[in-house]
Amino acid sequence: MRTSQTKTRGGWVSSWLIGHGGGPQVAVGATMLGLLALTVCAGGAWTFYTQARAQREGEVRAASSSASTLVHAAEALLGQGDAGSLQHIFSDSAIDAGLESATLSLDGVGVVADKNIAVVTVREVPAAWGSGPGVAQTLVQDGLISVTRRVHVEGKGDGTLTVARRFQASPTGDFAAQVGLGGIAAGVGVAGLLAYRSLRSRMRGLGAIRAALHQASAFSSGELPASAMRISDDLGEDALLWNRLITERDNAVARRDIESAAARQHTPGATGGDTATAFDALWMGLIVLDTEARVRAINGAAAVFLKHPRQDIVSRDLGAYVSDPAVMDAVQGVVKGKTKQRVVVETTVVDEAKDLERTILRMTIRPMRKEDGAAALLVVEDITQQRVADESRNAFVAQATHELRTPLTNIRLYLEQLLEEGDADPLVKARCINAISHQARRLERTVGDMLSVSEIEAGTFRLHTDDVRLETLLEELREDFSAAAADKEIDFTVELPPKLPLLTADRDKVAMALHNLVGNAMKYTPTGGKVMVRVSDDGQALRVDVSDNGIGISEEEQELVFEKFYRSKDKRIGVITGSGIGLALARQVVRLHGGDIRVQSVLDKGSTFTLTVPLRQSAAKLAA
Ligand code: ADP
Repeated sequence: MRTSQTKTRGGWVSSWLIGHGGGPQVAVGATMLGLLALTVCAGGAWTFYTQARAQREGEVRAASSSASTLVHAAEALLGQGDAGSLQHIFSDSAIDAGLESATLSLDGVGVVADKNIAVVTVREVPAAWGSGPGVAQTLVQDGLISVTRRVHVEGKGDGTLTVARRFQASPTGDFAAQVGLGGIAAGVGVAGLLAYRSLRSRMRGLGAIRAALHQASAFSSGELPASAMRISDDLGEDALLWNRLITERDNAVARRDIESAAARQHTPGATGGDTATAFDALWMGLIVLDTEARVRAINGAAAVFLKHPRQDIVSRDLGAYVSDPAVMDAVQGVVKGKTKQRVVVETTVVDEAKDLERTILRMTIRPMRKEDGAAALLVVEDITQQRVADESRNAFVAQATHELRTPLTNIRLYLEQLLEEGDADPLVKARCINAISHQARRLERTVGDMLSVSEIEAGTFRLHTDDVRLETLLEELREDFSAAAADKEIDFTVELPPKLPLLTADRDKVAMALHNLVGNAMKYTPTGGKVMVRVSDDGQALRVDVSDNGIGISEEEQELVFEKFYRSKDKRIGVITGSGIGLALARQVVRLHGGDIRVQSVLDKGSTFTLTVPLRQSAAKLAA
């Protein structure tokens, strides 16, 4: 329902005069009306007052004038003794001048003339009369103006003339003056209302601006929403200007935000919000490409993979940074929309500056919805380590198979020889049995290594400690490698102290570690070389140094060789069978005993691996 339909006539008038709603404009309007009414009332009152005073003064003047005229006439006629004329003049003048009364009395004689001739007896004017103390005065009282004058007749005496005139102030004053005054008041009122009405909408606008400013003070700086500041455009010119100001302010803020966002976008390493931060923090490379295979966005990791600063790559063709045609073909297929599925391509990057270091990158190209000009997302992952680990595992399986097959074949061959010749030749029989035993131990070790690897991987590796007789253990070591040393014409020596300490340890695991160190020394030392095992103890720990004058290990790789499946990048290593697990397993096992294995090596000169195991470890502690 519209409000105007419910308005009474009076309501419409007041709304026309004062306006709708509350606000300062109503107060201003009401104040103006009040002032106007007050002004009109004060003006009217002042007019009444001044008019009444002027009227009264006029009456007084008229009464005085009548009195003066009668005094002159009385003095002249009394001097001549003409009482009859005096009486006529009194009567006529009093009537002409509208006097209420006119009385002449002589001092000591009494009234000789009065206005009312009907009742006044004409007396003879005495020849002479006396004088009294009477005074001339004018009195205005109870609507009556009374003027008293002294009369003096030379040589005869004095008298008193009193005239009275009725005075009645008009409650409405002069009619024309009242009409004029009312007209002026009405004119001023109408003019004031018209002026107020023309100002009213402006005042409403100013009132709304004031309210908006009040509301603004409730917000802290930076939080003030434009909606809280904007006012209705219908409130007039001021409202329009105010809203324009607010719009200008909003535009300035928006411009500033856009500029700072753009500045952040172009600052290398800078981010634009949580998504960009996450995008940048990812370890995998992410590149967003457009339909022309140009880079729209790239994160830090991808820039590192492409080996160029990020700001150089953005907006450029990806082909300038990826040389592998297989990758670019796949990218073109996706960005042009020919390929709808994700495509995975692996590429190898060779760094000539870093000694031909290989990095294997897996590129996954996914189509994107082409809403924003983006056509494909390229995910770049470095799978070098994964690939190396895979290769090492494969090599390990191959090595393990080889390691299993070789002793098994040997055992079978020695068994056949034993069956054929053993009965006839006791020497052959002994050699065969010995060889079978040796091969069986080798088989056992290999299987043990494989088991240990899987146990370490699964976290279930346990030591079985006992007192270890080092003499026997080291003797077996010498026996196991004598034949291999002889084959390669290696000078193999084992140096033992006069007395060996008693070691509490897992015999098989310590034996495995020592076999590994000596086996490596034999493997990585060329024919005619030298391998030496030196055993010592300082009362605290058993120390075994396994030295060779083989190919050595570069300084950078001396720690890496203890990593699982790691094999040196030295080209000479490639032709020697190995799995890269031996040293990792040996160090792990020795560390479980509280000891360690360290290496000192010089490339092309040889290596010394030093194994230390504490002697005084209690079996209980080791088993724990
Ligand atoms: P594998 O010998 O089966 O490769 P290991 O774990 O025993 O595995 O050794 C890891 C790597 O350490 C070897 O591949 C080799 O590069 C290096 N290495 C070990 N011992 C020696 C040694 N005595 N001389 C030179 N390099 C060695």
